[in-house]
Amino acid sequence: MAFRVHCPTCGKVAVITTSNEMDPSIKQAYCACKDPECGHTFVVNVEFSHSLSPSALNLPEELRRRIRETQPDQQSSLFQKEEAPA
Ligand SMILES: [Zn+2]
Repeated sequence: MAFRVHCPTCGKVAVITTSNEMDPSIKQAYCACKDPECGHTFVVNVEFSHSLSPSALNLPEELRRRIRETQPDQQSSLFQKEEAPA
């Protein structure tokens, strides 16, 4: 689902006209209300909150290489070996 911004004054849909990246975790989106009778322009902050699943880029390079070289249906075995030794 696409991210939609609504005008805080009239509640109608607004369009993001441009954005400004403050740092990698926060953007400022410049918005304009599409209702011609309102015409409100405003700025909203879009901020990183939290991860639901870790980035593969944070895995050790050796493990990433083994994942690339392993068939998808065999990949879960790579992680079982990494976990608690029996
Ligand atoms: Zn509006």
